[in-house]
Amino acid sequence: MKITRQKHAKKHMSFYKYNFQVREPFQLLLDGTFCQAALRNKIQIREQLPGYLGGAAQLCTTRCVLKELESLGKELYGAKLIAQRFQVRHCSHFKDPVSGSACLLSMIQDGNPHHYFIATQDQDLAKKVKKKPGVPLLFIIQNTIVLDKPSPKSLAFIQAVQANQLVPEHQKQSLKQLKEKEGLGKEEKEKRKRKRVGGPNPLSCLKKKKKVQETKQPPAAKKKRKRKRSRAKLQPVQQCAEA
Ligand SMILES: [Zn+2]
Repeated sequence: MKITRQKHAKKHMSFYKYNFQVREPFQLLLDGTFCQAALRNKIQIREQLPGYLGGAAQLCTTRCVLKELESLGKELYGAKLIAQRFQVRHCSHFKDPVSGSACLLSMIQDGNPHHYFIATQDQDLAKKVKKKPGVPLLFIIQNTIVLDKPSPKSLAFIQAVQANQLVPEHQKQSLKQLKEKEGLGKEEKEKRKRKRVGGPNPLSCLKKKKKVQETKQPPAAKKKRKRKRSRAKLQPVQQCAEA
């Protein structure tokens, strides 16, 4: 039993790694129901998860989950103690805490950019998580942690990607980067070339030469030039007067 469970987990993990860029340390968002179930079933989450998932796991929760556990009182005191030891990830409900399930859903919005896993016993939350592609789901059955098989939504998403109907976010970004490297890079090179050919450089060279010539000429030469010009202007006037 245990071996097949591990095999399934390994297979599912490679699916998420390959298709959704899930990487170590795996980012796990745990809610109060999961902590409570772990406590009841005497499961050491921190010790068991890395072996089961095949890599280091970062256990996280949110302020809203902790607030909710506090509000539920004595019954969930043990679960609260467990959750308090996790890393608290920032959610958007700093001033107005929402329910733990609503908060965790908000954390995996917009294509789950932080590659969070959701660990919950809340069936309603699990259903909603399965509707979002690329979110690994963990729950506890009896006394074991189980990584759910990829949801139909995740499978459909990947099929669509493979059929070029959709481009996942990370690929869009890498495409952008490629474009910047290839396309925009070429434009910049062209601009540089144009500058070289189109010639602010020769113009500036000419100016420099003139300046050099002027400075070389003695002040007397300058005066002579001025005189010549004034004569040329005056000459036609004189001619007119003579005529
Ligand atoms: Zn929150």
